[in-house]
Amino acid sequence: MTHRSTSVRTRLARGIALLALVATSARAQRDVQPSTTLDSNSAAALARRQPRQRPDTIRAYPLRKLGPGAYAVLGDTGQGSEGRSNAGFVVTRTGVVVIDALASPAQGKALLRTIRTITTLPIQWLILTHHHPDHHFGAIVFKRAGAKVIAHPDRRTLASEDGDDAMVSAWTGVLGLREMQGFAFADTPDVPISRDTTLSLGGRTFRVEVPGTAHTPGDLVIWLPDARVLFAGDLLIEDGVAMVVDGSSSGLLTALDRIEALKPLQAMPGHGSVPANPLALIHETRCETLGLRAKMRNDVREGVAMSRALASLPPADRDRPVSRNSRVRRNAVRIYAEMEQELLHSTDSASARSDSVAMVSCAP
Ligand SMILES: [Zn+2]
Repeated sequence: MTHRSTSVRTRLARGIALLALVATSARAQRDVQPSTTLDSNSAAALARRQPRQRPDTIRAYPLRKLGPGAYAVLGDTGQGSEGRSNAGFVVTRTGVVVIDALASPAQGKALLRTIRTITTLPIQWLILTHHHPDHHFGAIVFKRAGAKVIAHPDRRTLASEDGDDAMVSAWTGVLGLREMQGFAFADTPDVPISRDTTLSLGGRTFRVEVPGTAHTPGDLVIWLPDARVLFAGDLLIEDGVAMVVDGSSSGLLTALDRIEALKPLQAMPGHGSVPANPLALIHETRCETLGLRAKMRNDVREGVAMSRALASLPPADRDRPVSRNSRVRRNAVRIYAEMEQELLHSTDSASARSDSVAMVSCAP
């Protein structure tokens, strides 16, 4: 798939050219070979629309209290995955646990100022829900403030496949140097978590669950049992279309079952408004995923070529790789490949049976 437009390419090229300073410092820190190329998928994954409001002029982002000492820092709403992502934080007896760090150092600083409107306690921990740049490129701000990073050790994403320098270059081309000033990677965990773990941080219990490869191979969900608050990362998006391009639709279904079983009172999605009813958003996400799986499974079984299978879906939005239609289409490509694998390994019947059981509750 090619989503890279001339304007995005121009912006990327400008970003790459202007980026010598940032890339050099990132290289120095990570000791990796420079790369100035991006394939179209990486560029597409990176070229999200970002909010026009500059974070360095914002005193604080809007906040929503999710439970005792637990807050959502609200990103853009009504834009699906296209706007600024959400972040969260939890105030404990001894300090603050931040959940996700937004897309740039400038956004990270605005997030820190937002936290400071609630508490002056030290920033002790940063938990990352996954390794997509729009959720961790502000992490260095919290690291420099003294936080230890808790994350899944698997950093692989489509955006990173050309290497860290290319990812930073492309991201800088999209956001601009001003937003990225002071950038360094800070998503390598001080505390790696690759299986379900209960942590006591500042006297408060955090359950960090590892649902497996769903949105990405490095997904974590954060559950506060005392408040029944869930920080879902990009397993949930406000419009019910979670991306599986870096992950797996069957993994997403498993992950959705797990977070549904927690029966959260509040769930913060990775992007968009906090739902009035978290279970309804989980349900909607499941039904969207099941619907696309059923369609792709049928097409694969009937030998329909991928291009024809895609032709019956709404067209992707030009220059908007993570618009709703574009997400559905990119998910369809991934799911088609999953269904081919299932057919190849003769697991498609069992998978179809369990999908149709789950689908009973979905409206036609
Ligand atoms: Zn993501």
